[in-house]
Amino acid sequence: MASERRDAGPARVRIAPSPTGDPHVGTAYIALFNYVFARKTGGQFVLRIEDTDRARSRADSERKILSALRWLGLTWDEGPDVGGPHGPYRQSERGPIYRDHAEQLIAAGKAYRCFCTPERLEQLRAEQRAAKAAFGYDRRCRGIDTGESRRRAEAGEPYTVRLAVPRDGTTTWHDRLRGPLSFDNAQVDDQILLKSDGMPTYHLANVVDDHAMGITHVIRAEEWISSTPKHVLLYDAFGWPQPVWVHMSLLRNPDKSKISKRKNPVSIDYYRDVGILPDALRNFLGIMGFSFGGDREVFSLDEMIDVFSWDKVSVGGPVFDLDKLRWMNEQYIHQLSHEQLADALIDWRLGRDYLLRLMPLFRERIKRFDEFIPAAWYFFAGEIDYAPVAEKLTIPGIKPAQLRKLLLELVDRYDALEAFRAAELEVATRAFADDKQIKTKHLFMLLRLVVTGRTASPPLFDTMEALGKEITRARLRTAAAWIAGR
Ligand code: GLU
Repeated sequence: MASERRDAGPARVRIAPSPTGDPHVGTAYIALFNYVFARKTGGQFVLRIEDTDRARSRADSERKILSALRWLGLTWDEGPDVGGPHGPYRQSERGPIYRDHAEQLIAAGKAYRCFCTPERLEQLRAEQRAAKAAFGYDRRCRGIDTGESRRRAEAGEPYTVRLAVPRDGTTTWHDRLRGPLSFDNAQVDDQILLKSDGMPTYHLANVVDDHAMGITHVIRAEEWISSTPKHVLLYDAFGWPQPVWVHMSLLRNPDKSKISKRKNPVSIDYYRDVGILPDALRNFLGIMGFSFGGDREVFSLDEMIDVFSWDKVSVGGPVFDLDKLRWMNEQYIHQLSHEQLADALIDWRLGRDYLLRLMPLFRERIKRFDEFIPAAWYFFAGEIDYAPVAEKLTIPGIKPAQLRKLLLELVDRYDALEAFRAAELEVATRAFADDKQIKTKHLFMLLRLVVTGRTASPPLFDTMEALGKEITRARLRTAAAWIAGR
């Protein structure tokens, strides 16, 4: 095995988000530790966009991720927006680099072309399913001789490129937090490196870029541990030294389940919209799995950098506890001067921009200004107390458990919308009512109650648009939990 890079000196680290959704708190958590470690060692923090999954990648998601990380104060030294000596920093712009590297591996006998058709692979999976065997490619094309493989490729036959994983033995590596880890090679599939459309998979692009960008430490979430043997084998196949591996624990709910967007608000934008200060969220993420020393929990970014070492990071699942986050935010609110607090509230929802969003909804609904806040309070609230309308949170003929499921499904549908605008929301909601055979009248009435806590409000979908995706979806989730607990 190639030697490990030395674990000292200025580090080059990276965050490598895939722009497929909203900016996730888990991304911020990993970005924070990368950032702190880069600053601690006097090194660099790189932001790379892993958008090789063209079907799922969205430009809007990239923009939101960048702005959320910047809001948290986690700025990068190199990235798609700021440039740098190792660009481009968007994988979709690096195609030829991956194809060259795949060719190199084929020439060295470390990878091979696979001509199996999608139909054959589907059949193989069906057979494995029927035999209750583990899924995996049966390596049929691994035996094809190189001359024939080249001829078939040149003749235009479609192929993927697969890594020739050793058939036996184990792949072992050292994790900075977890010590030695190993996988039996027999358990590792001959991973696809290059898809038939010439696009790389995550594994190839990630390793090639980490090497090309001089990354010394790969600091990422534990969910990538099962990919690491493939990455270690790739470093070996190229003859490159491995980076230092650091797999941080995933954020968990107090019941230890993984946080997920169905159950929890996981978007950084949600926390911004309910008025969490960026420094408080940053500090809260900092105490996940990291102990500052003593009982101290409130510390600045500079203070964290000052005392940081991996020995202070633990792998016991950090609990993403919203009460704790509120407590942390309170500490930061108390530190603000009256001027700073007033400015922070204006930036939040008391400024001109947000008020302008509400004016079309309220101009015809108020006769005096003193009626505005009582009529519009739910535009300035996070969660709503459904107790006063409990009786009405129903749809005729649908049981509470079923209603809960329906609301959660709608949360997913709204999440998948390209734009969170009234017109799109209306189309999606009508289609949902149609699919589920619910009268729109009943569904709309329920949604109005869920979103505003009242039976009369400005037009429903304009209200949702003005409230924004995060608050709207959070209210649907809260109402779903409320209905189920009734
Ligand atoms: N693109 C991966 C992600 O979305 C990167 C994982 C890694 O850091 O290697 O998190």
